[in-house]
Amino acid sequence: MATLGNPTNTIAVLKKYDFNFQKKYGQNFLIDSNILENIIKAAEICTDDCVIEIGPGIGTMTQYLCENAREVVAVEIDKKLIPILKQDTLAAYDNITILNEDILKTDINAIVQEKNNGAPIKVVANLPYYITTPIIMGLFEGNIPIESITVMVQKEVAQRMQSGPGTKDYGALSLTVQYYAKPELKFIVPAGCFMPRPNVDSAVIRLVRCQNPPVTVSNEKLMFGIIRAAFNQRRKTLVNSLNNAAGLNITKQQVHNALETMGLPSTIRGEALTLEQFAVFTALLTKIE
Ligand code: SAM
Repeated sequence: MATLGNPTNTIAVLKKYDFNFQKKYGQNFLIDSNILENIIKAAEICTDDCVIEIGPGIGTMTQYLCENAREVVAVEIDKKLIPILKQDTLAAYDNITILNEDILKTDINAIVQEKNNGAPIKVVANLPYYITTPIIMGLFEGNIPIESITVMVQKEVAQRMQSGPGTKDYGALSLTVQYYAKPELKFIVPAGCFMPRPNVDSAVIRLVRCQNPPVTVSNEKLMFGIIRAAFNQRRKTLVNSLNNAAGLNITKQQVHNALETMGLPSTIRGEALTLEQFAVFTALLTKIE
């Protein structure tokens, strides 16, 4: 099988299997070999690595991963792609496992145990954009042993992952990513590198898992509950957005008191707080409980 990272070979596979793109699955396949090589470099894949690929499509990037890693597990939701991968584009490799599953329901911990003895794995993907945030949140919050995540996402999403307070891109995704990892934006990928061509430009970002989070948090679940509530209604003051938030049980007075202790005005919005400040704020509320 010829390598797929070009339009001619990709079209040949699509025609051979009479494959129609499923918009609902966010199918935009890479057709540029330079970009594929650069993703492998950015992910720092080497022959010791066990890699999980989310959404292999017709196996374009999977071929590059199989060539460079020890072991690859590819999780693909679209059952029409499975025979293409198994019988054709990945048939030549003996270091690939193909699972026909929804990544959001996959027991990734079990895969890491089985394929890498529980040691941290690398995740590499050209992500389906409709579920970028739940995939990233799930990988970090699921206590999965991960060394790094190198993903293609919408350019704006990559910017959100890196941004800090005082910018319009700053939000719950920025804080989650920066709590668990160090984000490094690698390069921008123009829409013309995909088939079909998406409406937006994309970017490859590498998230290197922190050994220890940059801040100490008394109650992680509570802190992320507060963060989500704060950005759900980002134009409201922290006092109001937390008071309205279901499931948090935080009173206005508790928020006032915590902000006063921190020397912050009671009119402050969540979008003005740093990760460190959210951690301190959570600790103060935990003490009150
Ligand atoms: N990796 C291929 C490439 O770069 O050419 C395809 C990338 S395409 C942007 C996203 C892939 O993710 C598609 O193959 C799609 O079917 C798959 N996908 C979408 N939702 C998924 C899910 N919930 N679980 C697993 N795969 C999914």
